[in-house]
Amino acid sequence: MLPYKLYTLIDKAIKINTNRQYNTRSSHKKKTETETVTYMRLPYVDETIVRRINGILKTSKAPVKVAWTSGLTLGSKLITSALSKPPCPAGQRHCHTCESGLKGKCTSKNVVYKISCNICKINMRNELYIGESSRPIRYRFNEHLSDARKRKPDTPLGEHIADFHFDASDSKINSSFNITILTSGRDNAELKIAESIQIRKLKPTLNTMKSSWPLVHG
Ligand SMILES: [Zn+2]
Ligand SMILES: [Zn+2]
Repeated sequence: MLPYKLYTLIDKAIKINTNRQYNTRSSHKKKTETETVTYMRLPYVDETIVRRINGILKTSKAPVKVAWTSGLTLGSKLITSALSKPPCPAGQRHCHTCESGLKGKCTSKNVVYKISCNICKINMRNELYIGESSRPIRYRFNEHLSDARKRKPDTPLGEHIADFHFDASDSKINSSFNITILTSGRDNAELKIAESIQIRKLKPTLNTMKSSWPLVHG
């Protein structure tokens, strides 16, 4: 899916150019309705964007063609920023946390988070881990990934990889987990309580309850 901002941009360009086309048509009355093709000027960014925009136009069946213009204009900057991911707040070019579900939020602190295994999801297995972090979540997630790559015993992701995806390469492991923030807390006690509540609610398969305050069933 393309970001909404880009759709608005294209929509605007189509409208502007359609209006221009009507003006042209009124002065050249020979042209018939079926011959009318509107040209939309868009700054050239790269081939991926050309393909994506051509795809949108094809699907929309709008009689619009794109004239790609060169040069780094304001327009191309707008398109680039509309298509690119939000920047990593930690300033990382490749941030596992931003790339695994927390785009632009990898520095969040005092959160209860949920990690799920993408490989298992494909096989209709819902393998979850719930944890809490008072430090920026990216530190904790990187530790989880490191445990997973090392297949470290007594760690949730390490044991999961060892038990279910033993042959997975390091780069496969780095992109095999999805992380979301479930809730946040003001202090450690609040975080622990929130974590325990989420564990009881979601019954994550990868939690051993060792690190949490177990809640008595009531
Ligand atoms: Zn990041
Ligand atoms: Zn798995």
